[in-house]
Amino acid sequence: MNDLTALAEATTAPPLLELAADFPILSRPVNGRRLAYLDNGATTQKPDAVIEAERRFYRESNANIHRGVHWLSQHATELYDAARASVQRFLNAPSADEIVFTRGTTEAINLVAQSWGRPRLTAGDEILITHMEHHSNIVPWQLLCEQTGAVLKVAAVDDKGELDLATFNALLGERTRLVAITHVSNALGTITPVAELTAKAHAAGAIVLIDGAQAVAHTKVDVQAIGCDFYAFSGHKLYAPTGIGALYGRARLLQHMPPWQGGGDMIRTVAFERTTFAPPPQRFEAGTPNIAGAIGLAAAIDYVGRVGLERIAAHEHALLLRATAALGDIPGLRIVGTARHKAGIVSFLVDGIHPHDLGTILDSEGVAIRAGHHCAMPLMARLGIPGTARASFAMYNDFADIDALVAAIRKAQDMFGTRRPR
Ligand code: PLP
Repeated sequence: MNDLTALAEATTAPPLLELAADFPILSRPVNGRRLAYLDNGATTQKPDAVIEAERRFYRESNANIHRGVHWLSQHATELYDAARASVQRFLNAPSADEIVFTRGTTEAINLVAQSWGRPRLTAGDEILITHMEHHSNIVPWQLLCEQTGAVLKVAAVDDKGELDLATFNALLGERTRLVAITHVSNALGTITPVAELTAKAHAAGAIVLIDGAQAVAHTKVDVQAIGCDFYAFSGHKLYAPTGIGALYGRARLLQHMPPWQGGGDMIRTVAFERTTFAPPPQRFEAGTPNIAGAIGLAAAIDYVGRVGLERIAAHEHALLLRATAALGDIPGLRIVGTARHKAGIVSFLVDGIHPHDLGTILDSEGVAIRAGHHCAMPLMARLGIPGTARASFAMYNDFADIDALVAAIRKAQDMFGTRRPR
């Protein structure tokens, strides 16, 4: 996948960023070892700036939003609205009214399935996804298909983990109403050409949802440049708290979508005879939202902005190249997912050691990775494997983390008697 010169440079150059000191948890030992946290695809650690923003909210600004005439409520409302504007700028969405706060990517995708899809799709309509989707971008569409009679189509992925454009093109047809694709594969790190796929889908008359869960922390996302109709992401994968995320939705689609949950805050008027609903985005945010989470998300976006997404991307690319070279050098280790364009995720298998056993041994060395199917069981089935071990990088990782990973894998091979000389 990689140009050799870049590989050599990246594996010898010092890390571009040194940010671990901003993340308090990274200084705690795990199992008596220095923590090498390489499970960032699952969730990222939080910088002090985010922890403090949430704490400050509860200490100084806590009140429910949109409902109070008192000062604190108005203040909390202003902070919540400012957080929405911050997400709007982060995604370069045309309007803050196109940003709906959700619990995360999963809820955002379910919102689109139930509010956009359920009233519109009928038997025989098609939804096109890819073979590398996370379960969150599969199951909501399966449920929708059961409810409407629509049909789920799946574009193939090749052995390297790249989308097979020929099958994508072949499956995209006049019956396709929606294309839902991941921006970055959580299991393999593959970056998909979302702008190109969006243009193709639009030309076929379909609307497009992008699952950005694994993309937002690693690359600059511009929903207008991509041209997509919906973009979903989770705050906790972007250094923000859990339980908060967002959906970007094109205004002219959101305006015609009915509510998907009913309750307070999403209404204009309620009477037993007839209830009318608030405009987007409030229409989709029934009940008291995660106010502190939204404020934490805004703080995370500020932090990422201060570091700079271009620098983060370059740093993580250097980590990816270094890890690819170092792991590729271990006899008996196979990297799974060798797409040309990859984010900072390396999935791998080690001969004779089940990924779960490997994960447990690495943990005892202070190295936190993920092992299993990564909520991508169809992809694992396509690749003919039950799962992988996965190291996924964030801006605070450094070469010492990769060295610890390599040393721990060698130790596991020693324990299983499978170590072979290089
Ligand atoms: N999509 C992808 C590609 C993911 O990696 C994940 C989480 O790992 C999700 C969706 C679901 O995100 P969440 O559980 O935060 O809703």
